[in-house]
Amino acid sequence: MIDSFKYPDTKAYEYVVAALAAKGVTYKEIAKITYELQQQFLPDIELKEYEEATIDVMHKRELLNNVMVSLYLDKMATEHKLDEPLQSIVAHDAGVFGVDETLALQIANIYGSIGVTNYGHVDRVKPGIIGKLDRDRDSVNTFIDDVVGGIAAAVAGKLAHKYS
Ligand code: MG
Repeated sequence: MIDSFKYPDTKAYEYVVAALAAKGVTYKEIAKITYELQQQFLPDIELKEYEEATIDVMHKRELLNNVMVSLYLDKMATEHKLDEPLQSIVAHDAGVFGVDETLALQIANIYGSIGVTNYGHVDRVKPGIIGKLDRDRDSVNTFIDDVVGGIAAAVAGKLAHKYS
């Protein structure tokens, strides 16, 4: 179908920023994760540049699409509004589900495979806000911890390309 639908990038960005903020996640928290990851490789780059890169990366349409879907599924699962068996699978963060990691990996890969390597690392170590989300038992956080890791990893990929 061809119509005049105009993709609402600005609305998507605003939705994502607000939905992340509602979970205590800001671009500053994400930038801090990347800063700690990359500091040893890029000792001259200051935190401010990571923050600017994070805001920039968060405007990417592919990222916005994946984050919107991810956060919405967490929200619906928290409110018990998903159909079964998806409700139980998402609510229990079943290890063999994998869609959360798939969406996060796609984000991490926006700037190439360096992001994928970094995603693997943050997924194991769960630094900063990712660990906090992982331990939060008040709501379903099956997708958000992965996508935050994916965003942090994409920022690492962007900066690695810029300075290598
Ligand atoms: Mg997960």
